[in-house]
Amino acid sequence: MKILTVVGARPQFIKAAVVSKVLRTRVQEILVHTGQHFDYNMSEQFFEELDIPKPDYNLGIAGGTHAQMTARMLVALEEVMVKEKPNMVLVYGDTNSTLAAALVAAKLLIPICHVEAGTRSVEVGTNRYTLTNPEEVNRTCTDQVSSLLLASTQLNMENLRKENLESRSVYVGDPMYDAFLNYREKAEMQKNTLKTLQGKIVKLPEKFFYMTCHREENTNDDSVLLNILKVGEQLDELLVYPVHPRNKERSLRLVEKYNLKNLLLVEPVGYLTSNYMVNHAEKIITDSGGLQREAFFAGVQCITVLDLVSWPETMVDNRNILSRPITAELLEKLNIEQEVDSEYMPFGDGHAAEKIVNEITRFLEEK
Ligand code: UDP
Repeated sequence: MKILTVVGARPQFIKAAVVSKVLRTRVQEILVHTGQHFDYNMSEQFFEELDIPKPDYNLGIAGGTHAQMTARMLVALEEVMVKEKPNMVLVYGDTNSTLAAALVAAKLLIPICHVEAGTRSVEVGTNRYTLTNPEEVNRTCTDQVSSLLLASTQLNMENLRKENLESRSVYVGDPMYDAFLNYREKAEMQKNTLKTLQGKIVKLPEKFFYMTCHREENTNDDSVLLNILKVGEQLDELLVYPVHPRNKERSLRLVEKYNLKNLLLVEPVGYLTSNYMVNHAEKIITDSGGLQREAFFAGVQCITVLDLVSWPETMVDNRNILSRPITAELLEKLNIEQEVDSEYMPFGDGHAAEKIVNEITRFLEEK
């Protein structure tokens, strides 16, 4: 049995790290990196730290518009799949790499397994799905053409049911939770030095707030991003912000222009440092789907700067609160305290990787 896994972006490396380890004990895996994330600290560092096998192919495709990037991936992935003739293609999440791999495999009649199926964003105050962000388009289309839909939560299963995809869907839990648990101990042993955007090496302070912010809707406009960055000025502890490469120039310019002093802009950190920061932050501010869940796993409160609900499971007891990108609203939300019920865990039992591999092998054997 041959499985061809396609990854391309940071959150996919983390999920593949835990799944590939189990997968390779049962079947042959061909790993394809599309190249969507290519900087050392967005890609190679994850392969090194998480001990992910070296990709068999690196397509080196990054940048350009969504259409340009996806189109180039379609052509290159078709060549690889025609040559390798896998029994199944495995994809994760919601990036352009996910969609491109799914479209190619579907046209070649290769079954697709989609991990993190059934995630849907709804507009606040409605139950309407939104197709206003690229990730939603990618994940919705991928689900439609996949043969095996593996859901991280029961609510994701519910979404698949509503779209008549239930007969192809199985709840397995969230491999991000597996990774969070598996690497927590190792993360505690990190030195946690950070590299500022000016190239200086600094130590992570004992007390800090952790922020990530990279969604197009928050970073494509100076005034929106400035509203978010200004929050740091009102916090008691330093706001540490590893900056996504896409957002580096704008963030640096705004911090200098408005002389923001309580904000530490650093290069993206590796997964182990991020895991440590999640566990030790005072609170987390983010627009990342991954970080919202990790904050929840750690029992650290999260303020999500989005007007979309993607992980409603985390939005209980003030554990994850939505805010618009308005400084005063963000500060008001940061003042609310959470309650943590340690029994409540909708993301599985930390063994999603085994379940994912069991479902894949079961599917192929039945076929
Ligand atoms: N992450 C990291 N270093 C950083 C920021 C994030 O290792 O500087 C990790 C973290 O575990 C997070 C994951 O990357 O959950 C997901 O990344 P991202 O926010 O890019 O993607 P999303 O979750 O929004 O799809």
